[in-house]
Amino acid sequence: MTKKELYAQVLARFEEAMPVAETELHFGSTFQLLVAVMLSAQCTDKRVNMVTPALFEAYPTAEAMAKASEEDIFRYVKSVSYPNSKSAHLAAMARMLVGEMGGEVPSDVEQMQRLPGVGRKTANVVAAVAFDQPAMPVDTHVFRVANRIGLTVNSKTPLQTELELTKHIPDAVIPKAHHWLILHGRYVCQARKPKCGQCCIADICKRKGVSDAV
Ligand code: SF4
Repeated sequence: MTKKELYAQVLARFEEAMPVAETELHFGSTFQLLVAVMLSAQCTDKRVNMVTPALFEAYPTAEAMAKASEEDIFRYVKSVSYPNSKSAHLAAMARMLVGEMGGEVPSDVEQMQRLPGVGRKTANVVAAVAFDQPAMPVDTHVFRVANRIGLTVNSKTPLQTELELTKHIPDAVIPKAHHWLILHGRYVCQARKPKCGQCCIADICKRKGVSDAV
């Protein structure tokens, strides 16, 4: 099978298996999505969704959060991973949004990365989810699954994986493909015990039966 055929097969199978593929984070605006994505770094979406209702009630907008101190924010996010640095980043991010960007999250990935605590992966998630841009954030699931399936070959970094995936996946499909790879990695192609018996691409996967943490 050529690489082109592999990509076409995998995308078609995922479309059939996961016709609805969306972020599992809860949010009510682009600003709240950015906050939730920042909180989700090295933390589960489930845990983030437990703290954001109260956080968003207290600080629903950039303007409201910009008036809060790190300590104020910490009280709401203390149960997520790295609460100290995340509180500091959220306070600084909101202040910069209000002070320099009119209180609106920019759609441009480079502009977004100027915000404190916002790296390439976070900016790509917001670009894909909120602005439907052909952005491919590469987290641990996307990196692992793409390698296992053979969509990427010998990729050593998230950026290499991002560039390879975006080169082969049509722009219009990239935002959904991002969710497919994450959901597949989270629930089927898990790091230690991939559920190959339940996998919709088992017959075309190069790494069927793996049990390592690739
Ligand atoms: S066959 Fe197994 S290793 Fe391959 S994608 Fe499916 S779950 Fe992952």
